[in-house]
Amino acid sequence: MDIRLLPEHERFRDDVRRFLDDALDDDLRDGARFCPGVFQDYATNMRWHRILYTKGWIAPSWPKQYGGTGWDLLQRHIWSTEASLAGAPGVAPMGLGMCGPMLIGHGTPEQRAYYLPRILSGEDYWCQGYSEPGAGSDLASLKLRADIDGEDYILSGTKIWTTHAHHANRMFCLVRTDFTGKPQQGITFLLLDMDSPGITVEPIVFVSGEHEVNQVFFDNVRVPRANRVGAENDGWTVAKYLLEFERGGGGAARMQAALTRLSKLAATIPLEAGSLADDAAFARKLASAQVDLTAIQYTEFRILAALSQGGNPGPESSILKNLGANMSQRISELAVEALGMYGAPFQPEARTVGSNVVPIGPEEGLTTLPHYLNYRASSIAGGTNEVQKNIVAKLVLGL
Ligand SMILES: Cc1cc2nc3c(=O)[nH]c(=O)nc-3n(C[C@H](O)[C@H](O)[C@H](O)COP(=O)(O)OP(=O)(O)OC[C@H]3O[C@@H](n4cnc5c(N)ncnc54)[C@H](O)[C@@H]3O)c2cc1C
Repeated sequence: MDIRLLPEHERFRDDVRRFLDDALDDDLRDGARFCPGVFQDYATNMRWHRILYTKGWIAPSWPKQYGGTGWDLLQRHIWSTEASLAGAPGVAPMGLGMCGPMLIGHGTPEQRAYYLPRILSGEDYWCQGYSEPGAGSDLASLKLRADIDGEDYILSGTKIWTTHAHHANRMFCLVRTDFTGKPQQGITFLLLDMDSPGITVEPIVFVSGEHEVNQVFFDNVRVPRANRVGAENDGWTVAKYLLEFERGGGGAARMQAALTRLSKLAATIPLEAGSLADDAAFARKLASAQVDLTAIQYTEFRILAALSQGGNPGPESSILKNLGANMSQRISELAVEALGMYGAPFQPEARTVGSNVVPIGPEEGLTTLPHYLNYRASSIAGGTNEVQKNIVAKLVLGL
């Protein structure tokens, strides 16, 4: 398939380019370029979030009636491609990509009216309280208990691997309200304030040195029953619906921009004869990654097409999650292969060892290894590759 833009889409692309040119200053571009993790740092994220909100472009994937842009599929593709190529920062997915769509599908009118505008404006920053020690792939075995007391639930227990809980003022959370019967049937979905008395957030630091995830402890934390989404003991339905958005969020444009940068970088790395881009073995790896990434892009189109008709991503989102995780790891592995020791963090002097001066910008050297290390988690976070394959086998292939 060869995508050709109609004149109106070309005009839209030009508008997008003009906007990005104006809106992206050096701080924002540097924030994106030097980001060592999967998530954009909080300060850069929020600055960019507010700029997009003011422009009215913060939620391209939401229905227009709730604050979406009303863009068609190709406009959304143009936006994500141009933003990635221009080096724009990412925005955190927990509110815009996960909690918002879940509330649109399952929230009460009151919950939508209260929370959706606050997600759009950036006033609320969400984290996801699903996993617990002992409840990851087997999520339904979660134990954080919620006992009813008058108009409140009282929560005791812990959540783990909670990304950006140290920044979030809200959490969407799965709790156990029934310990008898089938585990899936005793789970309830709650929204809570992170400044509620009894919540403690403890950092967990990655092997690369970043602090993105946390363990969160609940010691008799009161949550109003009005903060429940869906029926009591039916949180599993809501939880699975949200996961489809988490896994079907896509990222092909960003990976394409990374692969394009890597191809350009390879052309600047000298070998005895020519550059790394001329090396047949490396060129074959780049070409093979490009073929697979193009296939991922079209898989993403199919899921976006379902969404733009008002649907949810469906279990097919697990295909995208699996392929995307593998591809992000593959690109980061190729970057390490390309830069070798020059990609090692905390060794900037390695870039100028003796006369062996490598003509690359410092940014590639500074973020290559942290990226490589952090992207090991892509095939775990949001559900492991094995879990996605089980879902595809059961719900997509009907095996
Ligand atoms: C960077 C990062 C960020 C995260 N952020 C969040 C967050 O914000 N909120 C949140 O709630 N959670 C978060 N998580 C947790 C994540 O969802 C879990 O780590 C994940 O679901 C796997 O669970 P586990 O770590 O307990 O591994 P386990 O479930 O113990 O799995 C261990 C291994 O066994 C395999 N396995 C397990 N069951 C099966 C099976 N049935 N068939 C085949 N293989 C199986 C797995 O694939 C894996 O290889 C995050 C994780 C990471 C790494």
